[in-house]
Amino acid sequence: MEFETVIGLEIHAQLATESRIFCSCSTEFGCPPNQNTCPVCLGLPGSLPVLNQKVIEYAVKLGLATNCSIRSDSQFARKNYFYPDLPKAYQISQYERPICEHGHLEISTGEGQKQIGITRIHLEEDAGKLLHQENSDSSSVDLNRAGIPLVEIVSEPELSSSEEAKSYMEKMHAILTALGICSGDMEKGHMRCDANVSIRPKGQKEFGTRTEIKNLNSFRFVKQAIDYEIERHREEILDGRELVQETRLWDSERKLTFSMRSKEEAEEYRYFPDPDLPVVELDTAWVDGLRESLPELPDARKLRYREKLGLSEYDAEVLSLSGEASEFFEEVLEAGGDPKQACNWILGDMTRMMNEKDLSLRKLGIKPGMIAELISLIQEGTISGKMAKNLLPDLQNSDQSVKELVEAKGLVQVSDEQELLKMIDGLIQEHAAQVEEYRGGKTKVLGFFVGQLMKQTQGKANPGVANKLIKSRLDG
Ligand code: ADP
Ligand code: MG
Repeated sequence: MEFETVIGLEIHAQLATESRIFCSCSTEFGCPPNQNTCPVCLGLPGSLPVLNQKVIEYAVKLGLATNCSIRSDSQFARKNYFYPDLPKAYQISQYERPICEHGHLEISTGEGQKQIGITRIHLEEDAGKLLHQENSDSSSVDLNRAGIPLVEIVSEPELSSSEEAKSYMEKMHAILTALGICSGDMEKGHMRCDANVSIRPKGQKEFGTRTEIKNLNSFRFVKQAIDYEIERHREEILDGRELVQETRLWDSERKLTFSMRSKEEAEEYRYFPDPDLPVVELDTAWVDGLRESLPELPDARKLRYREKLGLSEYDAEVLSLSGEASEFFEEVLEAGGDPKQACNWILGDMTRMMNEKDLSLRKLGIKPGMIAELISLIQEGTISGKMAKNLLPDLQNSDQSVKELVEAKGLVQVSDEQELLKMIDGLIQEHAAQVEEYRGGKTKVLGFFVGQLMKQTQGKANPGVANKLIKSRLDG
């Protein structure tokens, strides 16, 4: 039986405001437990929430960037449940009137661009954190995180593979960071996602039973967890077992999902409008002002890289999805670097170095101006591409210019024709037999002479010039 996959993602992103969503406590991280709190985030009786305007601004920007309609009568609602990290016993969220809805974004897939619907974007407060002590039968509660503003972005069930889900998440990450409304730091959980997965026989209209995998905090985990879950669904169905709708967790060590709890229904949360918070009435002119203030977004950036700078589809896509890489790239261009070469350095050797050293692009300590200088030294023939690659580690945290480093290492390429010709003539005399072979039609022998010349110059002969000169001597 042939199956098709249906996936919908719920992405949670932490908004990078200075204060919390309903009180003036800072969003700063790392205070001693419960020190960064007030009666509002502690949920003390009698305290009242006051909405942070910045949170609305950020959510509206996100809605505009993802083609949503923005509600002018958005409302907060109480989501009731009992858990020790939630002192009020309800989370302030949004239910029937989310701030943004009916949007979409485009992702790149193997078969070209695909539009994915965004059902809604709503605001909510984060809960506290439970700390389970080992060898103890009690847990501690830290409420420093309570009231940190979050957006939840719910997609339509329109993703059809783990690759598409990953691509959707990468695009959302790029938009959130381009807008400057979320740090995008997934290791810190500032962006994470719940993946809803189901499969159905190809051609069937109704959806299959879905399971939800909670709290995936890396692009890789999203892909791996979904692939695992698809395969598990398949086996269950083919073995004639009934799938249960449930919430599962991803074990990244063992690379499998396991059941966490059966899926709760919305009724169980007894949502109702929060009487402590007024309806959020948005002024059209204010929203229009935000629309005009939006920065260049990843799609526009990609288009510009393709059309104005002549990058390939793939290069433009990868660069435009990373705020850090595209910013670095543009600084190399400002310093005079050629776009294609700059892109090759960033996506090639520098990315390899980042992976090896587990550092971000900026943390490598190589300045954009150095890459521009490296590119021009290659272009003018002072050093070879190979020399440049070898030099890259020396650029890290160096105060010297690339030129100074090249000189200090004695790397300068030999392009001087007179100097090279002298050596070539010597080689031709020495290797008469090979010259014979070449002249007899075995032109591959050219490589032998290039090799000999490189050996003699310790790799410093300019390969282009060397080839040309050797050929002219052998042919002549
Ligand atoms: P809930 O309120 O239970 O979380 P929603 O209807 O809001 O459920 O859907 C949550 C997410 O699950 C959405 O992203 C939606 O696209 C996705 N989804 C819904 N049904 C399915 C399904 N059968 N298979 C995969 N994803 C689904
Ligand atoms: Mg949900």
